[in-house]
Amino acid sequence: MIPRRGHVHCGRLQNVPDSTRTIEDLAKALLTTHWGLEGMLERLPGENANYRVTTKDGHACVIKLSVDESVLVDLEEAAIKCLRGAGHPVPETICTNTDQSVVRTTIGDEPSSARLQSFLSGSRWRDERSTPKLLFNIGVMIARVHESFQTFEHADTHRTHQWDLATAHQHRSSIELFEDLSHRHAIELCFHLYAAYTQSLKDCPRGVLHGDPNDENILVANDAIIGLLDLGDCVAGALIQDIAVALSYAVQHDNITLNDASALVAGYDSIRPLQPSEEEVLFPLILARLATSACIAAKRRCDDPNHATWYSHVDSTLDAIHTLIQIAPIDAQQQLFSQCRADTEYHQSNVDLQKARSKTLGPSLSLSYDQPLHIVSGSGQYLFADDGMPYLDLVNNVCHVGHAHPHVVDAIARQAAVLNTNTRYLHENIITYAQRLTATLPDTLDTCFFVNSGSEANELALRLARAATGAHDVLVLDGAYHGNTTNCVAMSPYKFNGPGGTGASEWVHVVPVPDGYRGEIRGAPDEIGDAYALELARVIGEACARGRSIAGFFAEPILSCGGQIPLPPGYLARTFEHVRKAGGVCIADEVQVGFGRVGDAFWGFELHDVVPDIVVMGKPMGNGHPMGAVVTTRAIAEAFDNGMEFFSTFGGNPVSCACGLAVLDVIENESLQAQARTLGAYFLKELEALQSNHPIIGDVRGVGLFLGIELVRNHETLEPAASEASRIVNALRQRGVLLSTDGPLHNVIKIKPPMVLHKDDIDMTIRLLSDALSQ
Ligand code: PMP
Repeated sequence: MIPRRGHVHCGRLQNVPDSTRTIEDLAKALLTTHWGLEGMLERLPGENANYRVTTKDGHACVIKLSVDESVLVDLEEAAIKCLRGAGHPVPETICTNTDQSVVRTTIGDEPSSARLQSFLSGSRWRDERSTPKLLFNIGVMIARVHESFQTFEHADTHRTHQWDLATAHQHRSSIELFEDLSHRHAIELCFHLYAAYTQSLKDCPRGVLHGDPNDENILVANDAIIGLLDLGDCVAGALIQDIAVALSYAVQHDNITLNDASALVAGYDSIRPLQPSEEEVLFPLILARLATSACIAAKRRCDDPNHATWYSHVDSTLDAIHTLIQIAPIDAQQQLFSQCRADTEYHQSNVDLQKARSKTLGPSLSLSYDQPLHIVSGSGQYLFADDGMPYLDLVNNVCHVGHAHPHVVDAIARQAAVLNTNTRYLHENIITYAQRLTATLPDTLDTCFFVNSGSEANELALRLARAATGAHDVLVLDGAYHGNTTNCVAMSPYKFNGPGGTGASEWVHVVPVPDGYRGEIRGAPDEIGDAYALELARVIGEACARGRSIAGFFAEPILSCGGQIPLPPGYLARTFEHVRKAGGVCIADEVQVGFGRVGDAFWGFELHDVVPDIVVMGKPMGNGHPMGAVVTTRAIAEAFDNGMEFFSTFGGNPVSCACGLAVLDVIENESLQAQARTLGAYFLKELEALQSNHPIIGDVRGVGLFLGIELVRNHETLEPAASEASRIVNALRQRGVLLSTDGPLHNVIKIKPPMVLHKDDIDMTIRLLSDALSQ
């Protein structure tokens, strides 16, 4: 089903001016001139211009006309020759009077070709019952075709085309052509599974494929295969693609379940045993083929509504999609392989897990989503649940360079296999890591302390600030969160002013958050920085008037839990001046936004042209391995060195440092900071477009891949739309996208994905958000 340049339909070629002969006339003329044949022509079903020719003496053959790049005809002819030579029931090429297999001609102005083949009788698989025996035999036939192609070489197999399952994502944007929401969501899910699982397509055995073993290209009689047609989609790829194509038609036949269809898999497997990587991708590939058919049909209908022949299969395709997506991916896989493998018990029910969890763990832990997820693996930007369902992770800024990044996993495993100790021995890793880390920072920030979490790092930063200044109190931004230890909770208005909180301690002074959208002073970012800096000066003044003294100011360059609020330009520069004038030090909490996430810089504070005295790091540092750090000036570190040893049992251990180094490698090698900049800008632009269509979106904001969508019920009162935000987050979770809500009013949808995101992921999210917001 190769797209012919100049589509063929209803017996005429597109691009052919009306004044030219019909294709049928041309075919007749060519038959006479080149093959010396005359006969009746009858258009064969399918999208190619194929005619059955019945000669006067009753012989049948097929003339195939294509407006096409001639090289593809060469490939097809070579593939036919290869398969015929191996005894496969493919049509025989009938050469012309001058012994040519292909006649070059033109249709309109298009270079075209004509070929003649023997006519194969037999019923199309589509018109026969898909018995277990027939399905098994189709599987065997496909495997034998692959075997025969093992020695086939042709430069043109290294191409792709619109039916090639290796590039099925090319059709994803056509989802928008479906008006029916349930179709849209169903097709979205097909492509989502495809995108998440076909990362391992490259690990599958490869070879030359038939390319389109569909139910019109396979001719059958008495459950045996007696014909295999149309090698026009022949392409190099993962062998499993052919099986997926055949299965995507099997499941469109009445009453054929995946369990029934497994006979086809078993047939193939009996000749070439399928590998685990192939088992994993088969179901997503079937869905991708169905979705491809649906999308191509929709696109053609949109381009040319009058040609019903383009979507002959579309109803059964959509029916099959709707049936299949009801099946959990892991169940689908088991059903497809039920005739080749023993069943395995795969998961404990979520209800059991939840019960056990509440018996054994503290009740103040929460679970995300109305229907909690049991996640069993991760890869790149995806998390996979126990039922095989993939989730696009837009929340986890901890797995910064992607879940289970092989370079990071490998670094941890290698070092763990050799040695893990503590900082009381000399070791290269901690030195190299400290050097690599400080190289990313301004020169004055040259001294590192390693711990195991952001909380520990903030706790240590507090001690450093107190040691360096002799003062006790701190300034924090309203809505901020700095960690779970006693002091960190005391420095977190997000907690002490939230449920169960007991308000601010006397040593903690809360500064108004410079939020131009909802804060005390509203306006564009570049109008409000100075005014909010004066607010901080006011708070310092009030504290000093009460006899308090300021040890430090803790600030995130973009408030995270506080509602994804970027600090306005000039704000940090001015506030740092005020703090230092009051004798305090300035602490940048980079736990959420550091390590390149903001795109334009490696550290969030760099966006503001300031140099903090202390930088606090955590989350992304170890890509999920527990790591935290405090980097400060030599002078502050020395002030802290009062004779009491600082020791963290695990902080800075050789394994953690190897891990931290590997994370830095990946950020560099995969240019993730630049990716955060370009994808973040694209995401923000798309969110702004969404905002103009959905009044519930009050504000969209953020920098790089750290974004927020604030939902409000009323643009004047800014009444927070918290329950709506939660409903949207839960709706997207049902469709395979993980988001979360945050902010003091719980009405901000947070976006802070692993930085290995793709543009396709953003497009999918925007489509789903748009649908959820419309509802
Ligand atoms: N600082 C900030 C800004 C945070 O967001 C967090 C964690 N959410 C922490 C500190 C505490 O880090 P951890 O949970 O690793 O202790």
